[in-house]
Order: sequence, then C-alpha cells, then structure tokens
Amino acid sequence: MTEEEIKRFMTIIKKDYPNSKLTSEELEEWKDALSKISFTEASIKYYDHRNNANFRDKFPSIKLFIKTSSNINYLTNCIWCGKQFSSAEIRSHEERHSSVNYIVKKYKEHWNIEIDKSKYDELMNMNQEEFDARYDDFLEKLNNKCPSKIIQKILYLNANPGKELPMELYEEDKDEKTKKVFYGITNNI
Ligand SMILES: [Zn+2]
Repeated sequence: MTEEEIKRFMTIIKKDYPNSKLTSEELEEWKDALSKISFTEASIKYYDHRNNANFRDKFPSIKLFIKTSSNINYLTNCIWCGKQFSSAEIRSHEERHSSVNYIVKKYKEHWNIEIDKSKYDELMNMNQEEFDARYDDFLEKLNNKCPSKIIQKILYLNANPGKELPMELYEEDKDEKTKKVFYGITNNI
C-alpha cells in the first residue's frame, strides 16, 4: 500500500472504532504491516473481520495484516476473473484488473467508448513496462479531458521517480470528485 492508501485504510478502521486509540509505537507497526500488502488484500481481510457479529467489541488484530512469509506459496483465486494464481503473483494481477477497470469506466464516461473483451484481455496480458506507458498515456488523455491536479501529480511522480513535487502541484486537491478519481488510481500504483 502507498502512504495515502494506508491513511485511507486507517480512516476506515477508525470509523468503526472511534474510541480505540493506537499508541504511536503500535501505529508504526500497523503502517509497516500495511505497507507490505495491497489495499485490496487488507480490505478483504478487514471485511472478513467485520463479518463477525460482535466485531465492534474487538479491535482487529494486527496479525490479520502481517504478510505471511513469501517462502510459503499458496494458490488463490482472483477476485475479478476467478483464475487461480500463486500468492506471489496475485497482487500484481489484481492491481492490473483494477487499473484496466478504471480505464474501461473512464472511456465509457468521457468518450462513450466501450472497451470490448479482446481489448480488455490485451491490456491484462501486456507486460508491465508496456502497460505502465499505456496507463500514463491514458492519464494524460484523461487530464486533457477533465483537468485534475491529482492526475497531474501522479503523472509527474511516474515521470520523475523519487523527485519532490514542484510547488504548484503540492497543495491538496479539495474537490471531492477528483479525490475519488485519485483513490481509484492509487489503488493501481
Ligand atoms: Zn483476474
């Protein structure tokens, strides 16, 4: 998870447990554990926890979110297409779905273009480098259609890895709509 996703995830938990407070030490442990798993993975685990009738009585255990050793490989099914993958491969596969789904949604919304199954599969099967370049082109196009500071931030960070954001991109975007777009995208980075 990115830092932004961790913040969002912790906000979701805080809403269910307004009276529980983690010490700063515990919070660091949580952040560390969450940084090693994807937002989707953490959400599924938290959703399972919430399925307990008395879930509000018990703050979720951090153990739920600690990544099991990568030496232990198990098979798991993709939440989108149901295909089976090893635990080492599933994260990048599900992240790709999430990115492609976002492209599909935005093409329909802004250009009224339907992305058919063969195109969807092509995007799913593309190698990572090629897909990243394609995704940046798409964000560029989306930003021209409906300019968003958040998309501009992401494009800048993708093009300049490790560099600080320039001042004009620094301020928070207060528009709720673009915030949602941002969350959709950060799920995929
Ligand atoms: Zn899949």
